[in-house]
Amino acid sequence: MGPRDLTSGVTASGRRMSEQWAASVTGGRPRVVGGERPASVRKRLVAAFALSVVTLVAVAAVAVALAVRFQECGGGDEEEEAGGPPGTDRPSGGRGERVSAAEEEEPWRRSRLPDAVRPRHYDLNVAVHMDNFTFSGDVGIDVECLKATRFIVLHADRLEVSSVAVTAKRPGGGAVRVQRHFAFPANQMLVLVLHRELRASRTYRLDVTFEAAIEDELLGFFRSSYGLGGQRRYLAVTQFSPTHARKAFPCFDEPAFKATFSLSLRHHARYTSLSNMPALEDAAGEDAAGEDGWTTRRFARTPPMSTYYLAWAVCDFASRETSTEGGVTIRLLARPDAIASGAGDYALHITKRLLAFYQDFFKVAYALPKLDLLAVPKHPYAAMENWGLSVFVEQKILLDAQVSSASYQMELTMVVVHEICHQWFGDLVTPLWWEDVWLKEGFAHYFEYVGTDFLFPKWNMEKQRFLTDVLHEVMLLDGLSSSHPISQEVRDAADIDRVFDWIAYKKGAALIRMLANVMGQRLFRKGLNDYLLSHMYGNAARDDLWKKLSEAMRSEGRDIDVGAVMDRWTLQMGYPVVTISKNPAGQLATRYISVSQEHFLYGQDGGRGNSSFQWQVPLTVAVGNGSRVSSETLIWIHNKTESHVMSEMDDKTWLLGNINQTGYFRVNYDLQNWKLLIEQLHADPQVISVANRAGLIDDAFNLARAGYLPQGVPLQLMAYLPEEASFLPWHAASRALYQLDKLLDRTDDYNLFSDYVLKQVATRYHQMGWPSNAVNGEGGVLQAAYQTEELQRELIMLACSFGNKQCHRQAVAYISDWISSNKNRIPPNIRDVVYCTGVSLMDEDVWEFIWMKFHSSNAVSEKKILLEALTCSDNAFLLNRLLNLSLTSELVAEQDAIDVIIHVGRNPRGRNLAWRFFRDKWDVLDARYGEALFMNSKLISGVTEFLNTEKELDELKEFIRSSGEGAGPAMPRALEIVKGNVRWHRLHRRHLYQWLRKGPVRRSPPGDVSLAA
Ligand SMILES: [Zn+2]
Repeated sequence: MGPRDLTSGVTASGRRMSEQWAASVTGGRPRVVGGERPASVRKRLVAAFALSVVTLVAVAAVAVALAVRFQECGGGDEEEEAGGPPGTDRPSGGRGERVSAAEEEEPWRRSRLPDAVRPRHYDLNVAVHMDNFTFSGDVGIDVECLKATRFIVLHADRLEVSSVAVTAKRPGGGAVRVQRHFAFPANQMLVLVLHRELRASRTYRLDVTFEAAIEDELLGFFRSSYGLGGQRRYLAVTQFSPTHARKAFPCFDEPAFKATFSLSLRHHARYTSLSNMPALEDAAGEDAAGEDGWTTRRFARTPPMSTYYLAWAVCDFASRETSTEGGVTIRLLARPDAIASGAGDYALHITKRLLAFYQDFFKVAYALPKLDLLAVPKHPYAAMENWGLSVFVEQKILLDAQVSSASYQMELTMVVVHEICHQWFGDLVTPLWWEDVWLKEGFAHYFEYVGTDFLFPKWNMEKQRFLTDVLHEVMLLDGLSSSHPISQEVRDAADIDRVFDWIAYKKGAALIRMLANVMGQRLFRKGLNDYLLSHMYGNAARDDLWKKLSEAMRSEGRDIDVGAVMDRWTLQMGYPVVTISKNPAGQLATRYISVSQEHFLYGQDGGRGNSSFQWQVPLTVAVGNGSRVSSETLIWIHNKTESHVMSEMDDKTWLLGNINQTGYFRVNYDLQNWKLLIEQLHADPQVISVANRAGLIDDAFNLARAGYLPQGVPLQLMAYLPEEASFLPWHAASRALYQLDKLLDRTDDYNLFSDYVLKQVATRYHQMGWPSNAVNGEGGVLQAAYQTEELQRELIMLACSFGNKQCHRQAVAYISDWISSNKNRIPPNIRDVVYCTGVSLMDEDVWEFIWMKFHSSNAVSEKKILLEALTCSDNAFLLNRLLNLSLTSELVAEQDAIDVIIHVGRNPRGRNLAWRFFRDKWDVLDARYGEALFMNSKLISGVTEFLNTEKELDELKEFIRSSGEGAGPAMPRALEIVKGNVRWHRLHRRHLYQWLRKGPVRRSPPGDVSLAA
């Protein structure tokens, strides 16, 4: 499942390429203002940090206790003896609350369901009235009594329950009289009080009839619509994750209560219907339309599964289908016009390949006979991985190859790869409880890169793009004191929404990748295979995974307790900075190195993280010397400080840590070693791998920002960029530069900085030039050497946004040509940059022209970049007009309004406007987006991340005091970031400008490289 946010880019199913791409998609904002601050272009590109700031839940408590709990409760096997599905966990798994006497007497007062009974099977019949948007149903649930009890407590929310009955399921068992039943809305529960106790080890049948409205909100069973041939057509579809199945039928709505489901749907015959399983084809499967025009569809019984993965839909969509060699039918269903245009063919094609890929990788067959991909116009997430019926918002699955950019296609691809992975990590093996949601989201996010590499090996995503888009990104968030452990305590429903954040997705993926590299691919796969086989159709907690991975290691004589290692990484927030020093203070022989670890934190000025935090760090180290680098050595760091022997060292050799950046930590060195590394980059960068070049840039920049390194180090290091021909280091550099830009753009000496950037960019920019305007044909992007295109795009973006004159002229020429010929000949991959540059440099007529195009465009991706381009104007009147339109006009979709405000804030001319608008309209914004945590966080960070003066800090504090206290974790986090900005200015800005005045030193001997400014 993806975070809750429809706006493309910062969405995605686990943000695939997401943010950074979204970031890059934001385009540059060039501006030539009569000679003054020619480069004060902005930086809507500033994205990097912006992105980072999305969501983040500050839960301080380190839940060490959780591990213990899992050992106590997880993975019980008693159920199997009782005839349950293999690998099923006890329903009580993962809970550790103390139960008070009152709660024992009235178990519905607890936030979790009691464990006295558990469901085995549901017979669910639902009649769907599309004319008045209501539904009615009855459900018969076979429940097994585990402990004698007089209560049956299950979930129901917003349902009108009309009757309940309980019968014993054995010959002559008869009815169990229900004394009373009632709703307990505080916990969304339905309670049955019985006349006598149910007896342990017996099975009973619970029957409930109910009815409800088809929701307008995108939760539970909800409706949606689309236009076709001037008509409005409706569909109704479910979204049960995480806790909304209870809005569609009474059920035991916790992930460990797996059961089988037999569903039948009744609806008017003008619609078709779908569910997780295929419709039964025998005579019983589908009744011909009766005289009333209604039909009934019965679906095959599901395997045991969690309620939140159940799904159904009633719609009049068309479909395309294909099938795998193993006979699994794959269908893509969408609006008839989208199907006719072939917009779904791409996703259908890659899904077929992905099923084969995952089956081979996991050595576990796809479990169901079919997989439907349903493209809906509106959905609260990018996509939802319901087993056998995955639902996608249209923008994340329909592709028009004629107008889509490579980044759009890549993003869409990764959403599909993510959701298909969930068919195993999620649907087949489900996290026991929400505190370990990263067990499914981290895997699906990691496999976005692995699976995409399978589809397009040349993209090299896992070794490259993963670094900037996942690792670097999440280390920004996790380096704040307002971060939280990846496994976090979840007590009630309100906590559950919060756990779907970037820490779960990105840190989860980064930790899994670190582990895969430490173990080696073969053992890692073996461990995953055992894990899936042991827990299929059941639930698992993180300790279950650690156990299987440890066993895999042990099978080859490597005795590593994976759980003991990983608990440090999952139960503690943050990550370490590892400092490597060569021959410290001359006390040891030259072949010794000293290695130390400490908790990395921004805004603490080096060395004041939580001193009690310690990690078991798998540090890889290599030794290099001019033209060659040694093979890597793995060193496990257990203590705060350790000494280790390294061979092949002398005064001229440098040390490099975290080879290929497979580890989730930063590496710092003594200054002499930094100098040697920088000289190496200037002299011959190829000796150091692409991944490490990007890693050195990111580490140096962030270490300096946090006060661990002099400000000159990253700038001197980045001065090797004219020698850099690969995309990834450039991408890492531009992320870092845009962040600096955001801090500096209103300072007096800003030109020193922009000149520095333009100087790094110029050579490579002129060498690469601009792309030809050939439109990508069928599969064009797929075949393209995407790294070259992306590098070209990155350079154009940097050049135009920092004020390269030639870049500006080219962009203006493109826009002029478009206006005069009414033909858009701008290459799709750089349209956003060109539009934004044009709007910022040219007159009001261009703004009107883009506004008009925004109205008339139908392509989703094009519409988005046109809207964002409008925020690039220098004209305060136009920006204000746009801000107001964003909240009042039907033309701007609700989910796009936030992007408008954020992008106005990224424009230096719009910052104050956006910040003021945000405060003035807070009541409206909070009412509209307050519940959607991802959007809410994105908005708050988007309008505050650039604040960096004492005055602005005071304004923010005042705002939080007066209005923002209820806004959740995003406010404290914004405050921490702005405080960090202010502190950076106070302590470091002067040093940075001092260094820039002297300028970088190129290819010079170490004595001349002044790092300390
Ligand atoms: Zn997911």
